[in-house]
Amino acid sequence: MRKVKMGRPSKKRPYIEPFRKKCVGCGGIRWVKYTHYVMPTVSQFDIPVYNRNEEHAERKTIKGANVEYYCGYDCYQTNGKGENCK
Ligand SMILES: [Zn+2]
Repeated sequence: MRKVKMGRPSKKRPYIEPFRKKCVGCGGIRWVKYTHYVMPTVSQFDIPVYNRNEEHAERKTIKGANVEYYCGYDCYQTNGKGENCK
């Protein structure tokens, strides 16, 4: 009998190559550990239907989206004034 793969598919997130960018919080060129996406607001009556089989554009390529890079989540929350930021 053939073995059938059991269980749910893995929910691993895609691995993103680490890169350095200017941190919005503290202003330094640091390794990006947290990326904040500012998505354009959608009209209440025009919410796009999510279709998981459809191909989705990368968030940063979506028109109107603004991407902010932070060196850490702490930096994002405190805007560079946190204890872990320097
Ligand atoms: Zn920072």
